[in-house]
Amino acid sequence: MQREEQEAIERRISACQCCRLATGRNQIVPGDGDADAELMFIGEGPGANEDKQGHPFVGQAGKLLDRLLAEIGMTRADVFVTNVVKCRPPNNRDPESDEIAACEPYLEEQLRGIRPKLIVPLGRFAMNYFLPSAKISRAHGRTAQVGNWLIFPVYHPAAGLRQKKMLATLREDFLAIPALLAEAERPAIVEAPTPESTAEGGVAETGGAQLSLL
Ligand code: URA
Repeated sequence: MQREEQEAIERRISACQCCRLATGRNQIVPGDGDADAELMFIGEGPGANEDKQGHPFVGQAGKLLDRLLAEIGMTRADVFVTNVVKCRPPNNRDPESDEIAACEPYLEEQLRGIRPKLIVPLGRFAMNYFLPSAKISRAHGRTAQVGNWLIFPVYHPAAGLRQKKMLATLREDFLAIPALLAEAERPAIVEAPTPESTAEGGVAETGGAQLSLL
C-alpha cells in the first residue's frame, strides 16, 4: 500500500465520528508495521496503553505478540498489526457490533491496500469479523478461505497471558505460520468480503464463487 493511501486512511479515521467510541478516545489507533506485509494481524481494539500511544499492541499482550513473532523469526517491522475497531472501547469492554460495523470501511481499505497472503485474527472478535459463526476453541490453528482472504485464527495473546495452556496453544499455532506463508499467494483482489458475505454452515458465496469455510 502506498504511503499516501495509508495516510489518507489515517486522516479519515482521525476525523471519524461514526460511533460512540470517537467521544472517548485520546488517540486513534489505525495500525502499523509494513504496509506491504504478507502477514497481517488483527486484534480486537485498543486498550489504555494503545489509546495513549496511538499504536496497537504496545502493552503486555503486545509484548507477548513480539515474543511469539520472534519465535518464528519475525519482528513487528515484518508484519502489519491493526484492530477491528480503531478507537478504545471504554474500560476495555468488548467492542459492540455497531462499532465494528462503523469501523469496517477502514479495515476493508487496509486489507485491500495491503493484500496480505495470510490474515491472523487474534481472538474471537477479529475471527468473527471473517467467520461470524466460528468458535475460537475449534477454529484456532486452522485455515479458512473467506473471499479473497486466507484466514488463520489464533487465541488472543491476552488469553495466553492468563492461562499457560492457551500460551502453549498460541505458540504451537504460531509455529505453523511460516509454512502457511511459504505456500500462500497474494490474493489478486479486489473485492473484500464483508461479514454478510459469509454464510452459516461452512460455505460462503462471494461474487459468484463458492468458497469453503471451516
Ligand atoms: N488488545 C487488542 O486486541 N488490541 C490492541 O491493540 C491491544 C490489546
